[in-house]
Amino acid sequence: MSTSGPGDADIELFAERYRDLLAAMPDAIVVVNETGSIVLFNDEAERLFGMPAARVLGQSVEALVPSPLREAHQAHRGRYAAAPQRRSMGAHRALHGLHADGHRFPVEVSLSPLRIGTRSFTISAIRDVSERMRHQQALEAAQAAAERASAAKTQFLSRMSHELRTPLNAVLGFTQLMQLDDRHPLPAPQREQVHHVERAGRHLLAMINDLLDVSRIESGALSVSLEPLDVGEVAAEALAMTSTQAREFGVLLLPAAGDTTLHAHADRVRLRQVLINLLSNAVKYNHRGGRVELAIRAEGRDEVAVAVADTGIGMNEQQLAQLFQPFNRVGAERGPVEGTGIGLVIARRLAEMMGGRLEVASHSGVGSVFTLTLRAAAAVHAPARAERGEPVAAGTADAASLDVLYVEDNTINVEIIAAALRLRPAWRLRHAASGAEAIAQVQRARPDLLLVDMHLGDMTGLEMVASLERHPALAGITRVAISADALPRKVRQALDAGFERYLTKPLDVKALLRCLDDVAARVRPVA
Ligand code: ADP
Repeated sequence: MSTSGPGDADIELFAERYRDLLAAMPDAIVVVNETGSIVLFNDEAERLFGMPAARVLGQSVEALVPSPLREAHQAHRGRYAAAPQRRSMGAHRALHGLHADGHRFPVEVSLSPLRIGTRSFTISAIRDVSERMRHQQALEAAQAAAERASAAKTQFLSRMSHELRTPLNAVLGFTQLMQLDDRHPLPAPQREQVHHVERAGRHLLAMINDLLDVSRIESGALSVSLEPLDVGEVAAEALAMTSTQAREFGVLLLPAAGDTTLHAHADRVRLRQVLINLLSNAVKYNHRGGRVELAIRAEGRDEVAVAVADTGIGMNEQQLAQLFQPFNRVGAERGPVEGTGIGLVIARRLAEMMGGRLEVASHSGVGSVFTLTLRAAAAVHAPARAERGEPVAAGTADAASLDVLYVEDNTINVEIIAAALRLRPAWRLRHAASGAEAIAQVQRARPDLLLVDMHLGDMTGLEMVASLERHPALAGITRVAISADALPRKVRQALDAGFERYLTKPLDVKALLRCLDDVAARVRPVA
């Protein structure tokens, strides 16, 4: 370390006094005088800039600054001298130092004024931040790559969901229609066969949904939105949706017991999904004449438990130890009951995502109790059921005429909807094969209801509706979305864009009719 020669005796004294400290400093210390000449250059400065002190002392400090910063540096220095104060300039300001070999390196600089008698100096502490910047850049690159991968995975899932559901829509749509068409009833043996096709299709659909859920949970793409929910109400929905299966299996499904007024923090759709899974298992792994009971109770002051108990085949210790493992059906794969062995894995993960847990107690040959425990919530005033988009009982609105425009580019789907709407003879169905054609048709005659496929050839359903909304004469038509894309984000987007309902393919024909009856009753109430 050196100081400049004669003339800067004050600095010489300073350097002498702090010799050891300046030598041990991890930062490069450079002191300049009032004219910007370097008067002190410590050991670390020599190393950092690759120059011996003897070469830089007395030179202008700009010698250490690379172009193009050098040009502006003198002005900066002047401004600093006019109002000197302690100041830090972070690495983000793209500050660079210049090494003797010509390469530039990013630095972080702290400036402090130094007054000795009547003299004013400036001390700069300079630190090389190349390493830190490299880490930061690597981190940012890794983060960007992870975000890209996650986006690609989400897109892949969305496509998978769409691609797999579209053919299933044809299978399930036509089998349901064949069974529902009273004017052309199927002969008994074929009725039975078609029923098998439909059941197999539904099983395939359930597997697709489960697989998508598993991968969405794993990739973090699945999120839950928690709200205080009336547990009894959601349980009643799940019981209603399992009742047909219970009848088929000859199992008695009892109405919800316990305190059905309790509320818990949960995601409505996911809570229903978990309960349906537990109820469906309790029915499937049971005997003819067996019973299933769902009971709701408070667990202390903070929790609500929903227990699904059955008098079914039960499980032994060994089976229980393997439960909740993906694709492990703990022996049921050898039995007659259809399944995939991932329902409970999903149910437990969903319970955890809702801040709860799922536990089981079981005895072989006696039965099982699955208990879902959730965080208790205070009761809230909930809107009436119909307002929340849940199909209610079958309506009779077909007596009113209704002009429906179906916007869809897939002809199979058009046939399915056309056949389904023949069950509502008073309604008129028009069809548009593209977004542009739909807009033209609406301009010619405004329909009562738009049924919109979300993936049209020329635009998305959202874009088509947005362009209708831009014209006052075409805006505000009641609309229902039909899409093979069941990702919750897509559903939310459509509901936010003013769609009344979002039906997913494969269509449940009865649910479609219920939904349309409901919408029709409001659009064209029967006098
Ligand atoms: P799946 O029913 O599709 O096989 P689950 O993940 O829902 O898959 O269940 C995993 C396994 O746990 C089932 O295959 C069955 O062997 C067993 N199981 C689940 N629920 C019950 C129950 N209530 N009674 C007896 N066994 C059950």
